[in-house]
Amino acid sequence: MRNLIALIACSCVVLSASANDPAPAAAAKLAASVSKPASLSLPSKEAMAKEAAKESASIKKESPARKAAPAPVEDDKEQEAEVALSAKIAERLAELRERQQARATAAVRAKKAAEAKRREEEKAAAAAAILAATPKRGTVWSYEGELGPANWSKINVDWAKCGMGNRQSPIDLRDGIKVNLEQIGFDYHPSSFNEVNNGHTIQVTVGGGNFITVGNQTYELQQFHFHRPSEERINGKGTEMVMHLVHKSYDGKIAIIAVLLERGQPHSLMQTIWDNLPLEKNEVVAPSIVIDPMDALPEKREYFTYMGSLTEPPCTEGVLWLVFKQPRQASPAQMALFSRLYPLNARPVQPTSGRMIKESN
Ligand SMILES: [Zn+2]
Repeated sequence: MRNLIALIACSCVVLSASANDPAPAAAAKLAASVSKPASLSLPSKEAMAKEAAKESASIKKESPARKAAPAPVEDDKEQEAEVALSAKIAERLAELRERQQARATAAVRAKKAAEAKRREEEKAAAAAAILAATPKRGTVWSYEGELGPANWSKINVDWAKCGMGNRQSPIDLRDGIKVNLEQIGFDYHPSSFNEVNNGHTIQVTVGGGNFITVGNQTYELQQFHFHRPSEERINGKGTEMVMHLVHKSYDGKIAIIAVLLERGQPHSLMQTIWDNLPLEKNEVVAPSIVIDPMDALPEKREYFTYMGSLTEPPCTEGVLWLVFKQPRQASPAQMALFSRLYPLNARPVQPTSGRMIKESN
């Protein structure tokens, strides 16, 4: 009878524990209370059944009076109940053990996955550190995607100004100070030239002897090239294309004249350049004719001026910009031809950062 009460108590604990999805500690405690030797590991189903059988056998042996007792119907029933209960408890414990094992297996798997992830992260961090320590000397850039304007400064350490500069070009020309700007002095002549499709634009290098004078400084024309659409904006508005004429002073100062291009009449100078386009990229052709850079200029010579930078890597600052207010025209066919080669080769507008913009009255 004492055993029966103990087993019932046990089963109550087991059942109530199972209702609450017992923690491993509770299960261990339960196992200890059922299996005689105090152990933290749960007994197997077979062990429990054996234990229960042993219990019932000992019960039988326990009281000699029971052997002598006539018609032990009550005892038999009690024993059956005990065996049934023992089996139930063993079954429940086995279930608990399985759940515990499943939890343990899941925990091991999760730990392994976390380990693997940590190792991957360490490897990636080490690779990034090596990359960060190596000065970047990339030379390839473009106007879109990974190598586009937003990343120019990351491609080459010498191109840092493209990202960090505060006097960058192009800009939106607005809120200029209207003053009597001096006329730009032009000393341009018909000149020999060569041209190249350099992968970023069509660039024309002009023979020596073509000068401009501005601010008491003389600059010699080096080359001119094209962008589509125009990089400059005037009060937020751009044009379909722009021509940049790049000049250099004897002491290395740069002045760039921008001539905006809009649709209209054919542009004779542009036509000469297009007529002589090289067949291959980076192939320099030197036609046996001359061009007159004066043909690049608009009729009216009012302009905006501000201090900026090259609009392509390395984005060197200290460039004097002179942007004519009046655009020149080019025919739709001439525009279309360039757009087949360069549908987009313009750097986005950069912050003005409080720079002074002056404009002709
Ligand atoms: Zn340019």
